[in-house]
Amino acid sequence: MNDITQNQDRTNRGAEPLYRERAVQQPQYQQAVQMNTASGVPCPHCGTINEPDALFCASCGNAIGTTTCPYCGAAVDADADFCESCRHYIRKDVCSFCGAHLHGAEAYCPECGNPIGGIVCPVCRTHNDFSFCKQCGTPLTEEARLLKEKVLEMPEYQQMQRLADEIQKLDQQIPYVTEQDRERDRKSQELRQRVLMLLAQDRGLDRVDANLADHKIMSKDEYDKKKQERMEMLSRLLDQMAQLPQTKPAQVRNYAMACKPQGVRLAWECNFKHALHSSPCGCAKPQMGGKWIVLGKGTRKEIKDDI
Ligand SMILES: [Zn+2]
Ligand SMILES: [Zn+2]
Ligand SMILES: [Zn+2]
Ligand SMILES: [Zn+2]
Ligand SMILES: [Zn+2]
Repeated sequence: MNDITQNQDRTNRGAEPLYRERAVQQPQYQQAVQMNTASGVPCPHCGTINEPDALFCASCGNAIGTTTCPYCGAAVDADADFCESCRHYIRKDVCSFCGAHLHGAEAYCPECGNPIGGIVCPVCRTHNDFSFCKQCGTPLTEEARLLKEKVLEMPEYQQMQRLADEIQKLDQQIPYVTEQDRERDRKSQELRQRVLMLLAQDRGLDRVDANLADHKIMSKDEYDKKKQERMEMLSRLLDQMAQLPQTKPAQVRNYAMACKPQGVRLAWECNFKHALHSSPCGCAKPQMGGKWIVLGKGTRKEIKDDI
């Protein structure tokens, strides 16, 4: 996957104050700072003791503090770019589409050229802060379209989409639940054959050439087994295509959205809180990586954020 997602350095993760202009009251943040003033803050990732007001570890670069959402005041991790409480993109200093550093006053990203306020999906009219439509999956930027084209050529993706299509097709067939259903179907098949025979005789033929075998009888067990097999194969492929941690959240969001097969119910499970999101567009820290999982009867966890 390294040819698609490039590794970037961490230079844009300075400890400058975030969200200056929209900041509301910050009680939690101030409390946290006061509590840590005496001893400094140990990094939860590597143990290094940092300056009391540091938001990022001086040694490993991971977030160590929390800050507040400029829109709703909820506590968010210092390296989160999205507030899961009010569902706003919260970084004025980072382009949501490509992860480039911004000064905060730009109307368009100087790096990728996309509008800072977001893009309305031309297909479903949903407003999006990220490169793919969170609702319908349409690539919204030039980079997203190129990425989608690359992914469409990957054999793993093609196999996943084939499985997704087969699962969708299976779902359209109604499996037989009882013997009565089976009997009813047998009778209607008999009737159909008789009608076809009469029609054939009208045309002077003595046999029916219509293919009756195309009507497949499938029991509930057969249906369940077939579906289960395909779901398991799809799950394995989704695991293989899991999104690895990246420096920039945009890298993970874009790649995950490009890799999503259409037609089956999926959720994106993040490595941040192992929450199920309807997509990585609803996760505060997708840079930690994650993967798509198939939603089915066996799924215990609920999707955290439905659009
Ligand atoms: Zn650290
Ligand atoms: Zn918020
Ligand atoms: Zn950009
Ligand atoms: Zn859309
Ligand atoms: Zn998450």
